Amino acid sequence: MISISKSKRYYQALLGKDSDYEGIFYVGVRTTGVFCRPTCPARKPKFENCEFFATAKEALLAAYRPCQRCQPLSLPNQVSHVIQTLLKAIEENPEKRWKDSDFRKLGIDSATARRQFKKRFGMTFVEYARSRRMGLALKHIKEGNMVIDAQLSVGYESSSGFRDAFSRIMGAPPTHKNHVILKAAWIDTQLGPMIAIADETGLYLLEFIDRRGLEREVERLRKKLKAAIVPGENEILKKIEFEITNYFTGKNLFFETPLHQVGSPFQKQVWEELQKIPTGETRSYFDIAKLIGKPKACRAVARANGTNQLAIIIPCHRVINSNKELGGYAGGVARKQWLLTHEKKIQK
Ligand SMILES: [Zn+2]
Repeated sequence: MISISKSKRYYQALLGKDSDYEGIFYVGVRTTGVFCRPTCPARKPKFENCEFFATAKEALLAAYRPCQRCQPLSLPNQVSHVIQTLLKAIEENPEKRWKDSDFRKLGIDSATARRQFKKRFGMTFVEYARSRRMGLALKHIKEGNMVIDAQLSVGYESSSGFRDAFSRIMGAPPTHKNHVILKAAWIDTQLGPMIAIADETGLYLLEFIDRRGLEREVERLRKKLKAAIVPGENEILKKIEFEITNYFTGKNLFFETPLHQVGSPFQKQVWEELQKIPTGETRSYFDIAKLIGKPKACRAVARANGTNQLAIIIPCHRVINSNKELGGYAGGVARKQWLLTHEKKIQK
């Protein structure tokens, strides 16, 4: 999250079209749903309608689309034909998942697209498309908007794309009563927004919204439970929001929210062991494998660790490599480092 004082400074830079701030921030405009670079020539929005982001990816994940005028995803005057074609294709059909054959149809080589996007935007084309899709799907969760169906079909230039993006990931809104309904809420944290999914009795998922593979995780959960996910609130979501806020402020690092763990007996065994790692400490994959009595199952432990859907609460971030290197983290290694440092500091 960007602080108020920083936002005010950014807003001044925006009014002055200050090119010193190029690449430092992006601004999302709530009234139009577009995001811009600081020097955009378009009429400037009011401060209260601005939302500032450090990266273009964050703006995409918050459901903003790139401004046509200032083209925040390109260096000025340096947009290749390949990139232009692909950006246009995404806006026409944001829920699409891209296969090699789709690139061929547009006469574009997928490796070229990948390389060019990475070079220009610091993310591959597939990551860009996914961020845009997730942003659209998560928009109503962010806004806590309960009314899905009617609202999805109005107010968007690509309403069918938006509806598809939401229902493909979150499940079609329920049409009859005996449908399992899970509620999803958006939680802002110091390390970026998280999504929480729960029913009335427990929490199923807590993840950073830009986590690698989140989309498939949500789908898997939904299909397994034959559920639809709608934006909303319940006691469990209120509780986890409260606890996560306390965790980040350092007031209390412990969680009591009831959990539903969806996984195989082996995965559950690993997750249970993870929860025994004391706050502020780390273990290696090998340590965990030994503790569950399967010292040779290091790789399976690492996999089970990676499939954890309850970030922070089930502390998969406390598992590091045997050589003391951090190892991977689906939410990004920078976050892993932050969480470990935070826990160590607070536990002292
Ligand atoms: Zn603009």
